Amino acid sequence: MAKTILVTGGAGYIGSHTVLQLLLGGFKTVVVDNLDNSSEVAVDRVRELAREFGKNLSFHKVDLRDKPALDKLFSSITFDAVIHFAGLKAVGESVQKPLLYYNNNLIGTITLLEVMAAHGCKKLVFSSSATVYGWPKVVPCTEDFPLVAANPYGRTKLFIEEIARDIYRSDSDWKIILLRYFNPVGAHPSGHIGEDPRGIPNNLMPFVQQVAVGRRQALTVFGTDYNTKDGTGVRDYIHVVDLADGHIAALHKLDEDKIGCEVYNLGTGKGTSVLEMVAAFESASGKKIPLVTSGRRPGDAEVVYASTEKAERELNWKAQYSIDDMCRDQWNWASKNPFGYDTSDSTT
Ligand code: NAD
Ligand code: UDP
Repeated sequence: MAKTILVTGGAGYIGSHTVLQLLLGGFKTVVVDNLDNSSEVAVDRVRELAREFGKNLSFHKVDLRDKPALDKLFSSITFDAVIHFAGLKAVGESVQKPLLYYNNNLIGTITLLEVMAAHGCKKLVFSSSATVYGWPKVVPCTEDFPLVAANPYGRTKLFIEEIARDIYRSDSDWKIILLRYFNPVGAHPSGHIGEDPRGIPNNLMPFVQQVAVGRRQALTVFGTDYNTKDGTGVRDYIHVVDLADGHIAALHKLDEDKIGCEVYNLGTGKGTSVLEMVAAFESASGKKIPLVTSGRRPGDAEVVYASTEKAERELNWKAQYSIDDMCRDQWNWASKNPFGYDTSDSTT
């Protein structure tokens, strides 16, 4: 019997790619999303890409904080596990509007966990982030590093990780996997789904992509005086399809007898600088990305990349795509969809 997975935030960037991999892997998939930072068009495109498996996808426009709606869904469908992506993720906005972030991310998650417990669904995969490593003193980051939160967004990740550990301590029936993502980039190789941020992008590659299609004039490079090969910040960029596959590996792990509450990094283990990413994107797209240099962005770490050993060993998962693949697929998506899923708006 096909397993049924609830995917919260499944209309979003990482969620939509994961839903596609789930469908292709034979899972039945139910998406709940309030479409706060996404479009239902993404769900429709996933259904098309999944071809004959598309019939195994259903979508519900629900806010996770709407407990009666969530309860109704759990009463009508028996879920084998939940993959929980839904949350707000803009670091700068979280500093300006901390209560919005605590309300949405924490209350949304607590409501979800309460409803899961009430219906006896105790298998969870949660989207955490490398942000919980803060400014690591050494790299690569291993899962046992001390955890810090640099801003309210990061604090929601840290709090939810702690909540998950407490839940498992209180009830060992729970099986929980916390996935700490490094820097997801790229898009599905078809070019039909990808990242479509609202407003001015916070992250490097969505910004680069918008410069390439002429929506923005130049990329501002935040900091050229880091102690790195070219002075710019170094991160661990991972193809979103590799990341999506990491969730399938985590679901399989949840089937094992004793897993408790475990945490895994999802990264490639390789560090790439801002200038290296820009050069790779320029060569993939044939577009020149004009640069403006500025000071360091407050709160930014110098070098962050993952130790991938634990995920390789215990999830039997390893990232496959290279930086050039990520840039090729990001450009394929961007050139086919210069305004993302919105075909009417050319003003942002
Ligand atoms: P995204 O914004 O594209 O997707 C999140 C989705 O959740 C959106 O579709 C949004 O509409 C939905 N959502 C938000 N609040 C909701 C609520 N209360 N009820 C229902 N739906 C709600 O973001 P993403 O990049 O796909 O990120 C997915 C998850 O991964 C997030 O939890 C994010 O914090 C985490 N993460 C992302 C990155 C990254 O760089 N993209 C890195 C580390 C961790
Ligand atoms: N960055 C940049 N210009 C931008 C956005 C990001 O120079 O417009 C740099 C940033 O300083 C960091 C790297 O790109 O060194 C990755 O930033 P991003 O926000 O994508 O990821 P995070 O810092 O959260 O890991």
